[in-house]
Amino acid sequence: MASPLTEGEVVRVRASGKVNLVLRSGPRRPDGYHTLATVFQAVSVYDELDARWAGPGQFSVAVQGEQADLVPTDDTNLALRAAKLLARRFGSEELGCALTIRKAIPVTGGMAGGSADAAAALLACSVLWDLDTAPDDLVTLGTRLGADVPFCLTGGTALGSDRGDRLAPVLSRGTYHWVLAFSEGELSTPAVFGRFDELRRDDAAALEVPAGLLNALIAGDPASLGACLVNDLEPAALSLRPGLQQVLAAGRDLGALGGIVSGSGPTVAFLVGDESAAIDLSVGLASHGICRSVKRVYGPVPGVRLIS
Ligand code: ATP
Repeated sequence: MASPLTEGEVVRVRASGKVNLVLRSGPRRPDGYHTLATVFQAVSVYDELDARWAGPGQFSVAVQGEQADLVPTDDTNLALRAAKLLARRFGSEELGCALTIRKAIPVTGGMAGGSADAAAALLACSVLWDLDTAPDDLVTLGTRLGADVPFCLTGGTALGSDRGDRLAPVLSRGTYHWVLAFSEGELSTPAVFGRFDELRRDDAAALEVPAGLLNALIAGDPASLGACLVNDLEPAALSLRPGLQQVLAAGRDLGALGGIVSGSGPTVAFLVGDESAAIDLSVGLASHGICRSVKRVYGPVPGVRLIS
């Protein structure tokens, strides 16, 4: 197969992280997954991925950035798995690629960083190899790689059901400003779901997305949205990382409209009214010295996009 790109040329893709505005979870299913009802919002923290042509059957990945040492570069790297799956399903044995990822999305931080990189690799390699793939083909492959990958491809605001991978669009007006509090250390998603299973009561509420939250998004009303944020995994994450209570309390004391553990944590996301409130809150949180770092972001933003 001929590539339209010559050796040495690079396809560069940017992929956003996400916060879950709502994350409701049912009990563990016989297949090991949990049925979710979630509302994703893609936010402006981005990993960048470069894909370059490599010899037939040669696949490699290098990772750069503050937390690069936490990301595997072997066959378990999700971006590498995505590239190989794409080559197998839509390409030929003649294909290969060298990937470079510059990480800004926190690793094992509950913001779907690995899934974002997988989505980025699917798009970048389909362009690099000039494959005849439709967007739906990438979504179908993405579902096989991880439940968050379909959302990372599309971005914006979406309702996720089943494993979180069956997406429906959600109407959302305006831009929402967030302050992310990144924590030291990781919190593994399976460990958080394990603790969730231990803590879950049989009479737990149904998997409902609060109507008030959907109305707040339609109205573009951050104060109402902040009051409706809900994450069923938060008690489990707090039980594994009690220090996050302090982070949540500090953000609320400093005037956030709402604060929530993002996905399985340990990142905590605080919603504020505008950019100047975001600056105030991030300065206040940083001065408490209770998080690794803070970052101001906004959403919704698109999913994976070609940069060059
Ligand atoms: P999620 O919210 O989707 O459950 P997360 O954001 O908490 O996940 P990730 O950063 O996606 O966590 O990392 C989850 C695991 O995947 C980690 O053990 C990490 O080492 C591994 N991993 C594999 N490939 C990547 C990648 N490209 N980037 C980050 N982590 C990766």
